[in-house]
Amino acid sequence: MATTTSLNPYTGEALDSYKNHIKKEVSEIIDKADNRFYSWRETSFSERKKLMLAAASELKKNKKEYAEMMTLEMGKPISQAIAEVEKCAWVCEYYAENAEKQLQNEVIKTDAHKSYVSYEPLGVVLAVMPWNYPFWQVFRFAVPALMAGNIGVLKHASNVFGSALNIEKVFKRAGFPDNCFTTLLIGSDAVEDVIENEKIKAVTLTGSGPAGSSVASIAGKNIKKTVLELGGSNALVVLKDCDMDKTIATCVQARFQNTGQSCIAGKRLIIDEYISEEFVEKMLVKVRELKSGDPMDQETYIGTMAREDLAKDIEKQVNTSVKAGAKLAIGGKRQGAYFEPTILTNVTKNMAVFSEETFGPALSITTFKTVEEAIELSNSSKFGLGVSLFTKNIEEAEKLALQFDEGAVFINELVKSDPRLPFGGIKQSGYGRELSEHGIREFVNRKTIFLN
Ligand code: NAP
Repeated sequence: MATTTSLNPYTGEALDSYKNHIKKEVSEIIDKADNRFYSWRETSFSERKKLMLAAASELKKNKKEYAEMMTLEMGKPISQAIAEVEKCAWVCEYYAENAEKQLQNEVIKTDAHKSYVSYEPLGVVLAVMPWNYPFWQVFRFAVPALMAGNIGVLKHASNVFGSALNIEKVFKRAGFPDNCFTTLLIGSDAVEDVIENEKIKAVTLTGSGPAGSSVASIAGKNIKKTVLELGGSNALVVLKDCDMDKTIATCVQARFQNTGQSCIAGKRLIIDEYISEEFVEKMLVKVRELKSGDPMDQETYIGTMAREDLAKDIEKQVNTSVKAGAKLAIGGKRQGAYFEPTILTNVTKNMAVFSEETFGPALSITTFKTVEEAIELSNSSKFGLGVSLFTKNIEEAEKLALQFDEGAVFINELVKSDPRLPFGGIKQSGYGRELSEHGIREFVNRKTIFLN
């Protein structure tokens, strides 16, 4: 029987070992999930609301326990792990309050006596999830799915199985009926069978492009709906009339929080050459102040990366870019799974740190002469998750926002997810939306009802 061992990336030591579910166990879990669906879909919104508020309370009550597991498994600084658990409580509260309104019948006037859209759950939805925000990525799918009357089964990333089991525990402790939300302990090679199971009605994946493409192909062959939240290479576009100090603080956070391992991190700083020298000098001061260290220490801002191989990947992207002419302004060195906060200047479009997604603490800086050039540089990425634009001219910024090929444009702010706003990308960043009214309507049957 296969087992999966989790490692603490900071110490390199083994944390725990999990027996993977074998095929028979997987199909039994899916059977039970499907059975639960028929009673869960009949529960009232007020019953679901009560349970979801209990999940929010459970998250707040035991945030330390849940946060510590994330930090141990993937090196996230503990203060950021606690903030992540608190954000999960927020999404529970948001949908507890809003789901009923978002899914109420939508009356449409036609020649019928009465006609409307009824939003109904689909059944068991499979979620394939990444390790970078082990709780948040799962909750932003699971909460609207459950509130809509669906059932969730999770295949989490293989390095965070402890967190995956903790998420199941949150719903159990909150009092949800058994099998409303279950974790499958399986590797990616077992996902195809799960998607092909007729009791799985839809699939959502957050992760890399190749994983998304593979999962969507299998789902497509089986005519099952998918939502894909894939990679990103967001630009931070800085115009010369920005508020420099505030912009620097926001850009540092946008790139270096979660040790740079975020799909919506600002990875490519694209700045007016007129202010670039002063901006970079001031930014280096701020980056030197970022405290690296033991992820369990409250003061640590830069932890280790989640796995040593991921740190090696970013080291390679930085080194090949330097060989191609980029200048290392700070950082660039790796020690095990730790990679120093790094800034590269003189970056051009063809370099790895610009053309590929950098999933770690390395920022590329490219200058421009005109705003048209800045937009062209930003849009030249194959990804389209989001962009941040920094300028004091808000009126002009709103006009420019329309020219970016992105799922989101944030003016004078880092791109962030918020339960009240739709979240998702275009181009190679995927399709579909999570969060808000748009997210809860992804996994429902929009049934037309016509009465004459
Ligand atoms: P990943 O390697 O694609 O893994 C994501 C999940 O997919 C894991 O559960 C993984 O399982 C599974 N998986 C991998 N290959 C698969 C396949 N061929 N078939 C089925 N499942 C497969 O991504 P990651 O390294 O964990 O996460 C980093 C990537 O996720 C980055 O590209 C990042 O930008 C993206 N991301 C996007 C968003 C968004 O909202 N757009 C948010 C966060 C992260 P195993 O662990 O067992 O391999």
